[in-house]
Amino acid sequence: MDFNAFVLSKGDKGQELAWRSMAETELMDGDVTVRVSHSTINYKDGLALTGKAPVVRRWPMIPGIDFAGTVEASTNAEFKPGDAVILNGWGLGETHLGGYAQLARVKGDWLIKRPAGISAAEAMAIGTAGYTAMLCVMALERHDVTPASGPVLVTGAAGGVGSVAVAVLDKLGYHVIASTGRASEADYLKGLGAKEIIDRAELGAGPGRALAKERWAGVVDAVGSHTLANAIAATRYGGCVAACGLAQGMDLATSVAPFILRGVTLAGIDSVMAPKARRIEAWDRLARDLDKSALAAMTVTRPVADAPALAPDILAGKVRGRVVLEIG
Ligand code: NDP
Repeated sequence: MDFNAFVLSKGDKGQELAWRSMAETELMDGDVTVRVSHSTINYKDGLALTGKAPVVRRWPMIPGIDFAGTVEASTNAEFKPGDAVILNGWGLGETHLGGYAQLARVKGDWLIKRPAGISAAEAMAIGTAGYTAMLCVMALERHDVTPASGPVLVTGAAGGVGSVAVAVLDKLGYHVIASTGRASEADYLKGLGAKEIIDRAELGAGPGRALAKERWAGVVDAVGSHTLANAIAATRYGGCVAACGLAQGMDLATSVAPFILRGVTLAGIDSVMAPKARRIEAWDRLARDLDKSALAAMTVTRPVADAPALAPDILAGKVRGRVVLEIG
């Protein structure tokens, strides 16, 4: 059976992207074949589509690190035709043919059943960005950051990870401080539940002191670099900083002072290889702790044909919230 997909290939002039027909036999090994209905664009998809970072490690590649769809064929005991499934990460769009395709073949171990109450479109409105935001919130909880501990800072707040983190933390009762470079998005962020908005230049303009005035008990950081260093420096005694992103940079110049003098925890968050049990917990939590109205407010829907145009925009921090891509 033939199907259509975006295919990234490497030629003399660098990488090229084309929407084209593929034969099912071109799919990679896997025990479950999925009819994909929706995908999304995350920061990493922007890197892959533009070639700005070496995300793609197999050529040709179908980009797309996420998909939602319905099982078409399965030799995996856990899945049967008709099951509604989600896939986030596991090398999809990097080393294994990804989600910007009408058909995907993957290892059943990578799939999770789509929770009742979340549609395929909503699952991709959440996507890796939203699931990662929930992994960050769960890390704060594991380190005893509760709404009573004090405010939680969310950096890159108007982006995908940030928007979901703001909405979830507000619903859980936290006082959310949103850091953004887009002052024009203050009302949007307040609508999602942010109680205070700060200018991202406050934390990201340059290196600061190793210890600053204690301001927040927890941090969800999607930005890295100076922003993360300054966020750690202003974390209260016993607090926790969940670091998941690098939108400002990969670097992190800090000192041990916040860790050894204030007992601050720096919790690293990886969504790609996260164990299945934690993924299922995160998706169950998203079904419970993310308001559908907040999710709708942060989401726009586009045809998958728009992905190439969205890629430079997401890297430039111009995409607000989340984008669902309809595969069609
Ligand atoms: P988005 O582009 O949607 O959000 C990133 C946000 O960061 C922007 O909206 C902007 O927010 C802010 N930002 C952008 N550039 C800069 C800059 N130069 N300095 C400071 N802030 C900046 O991306 P996602 O939400 O999809 O991903 C966010 C980050 O998290 C990425 O680095 C991504 O790679 C990472 N990530 C990591 C995962 C993991 O497994 N560890 C999984 C998912 C994402 P604002 O306009 O509000 O300032």
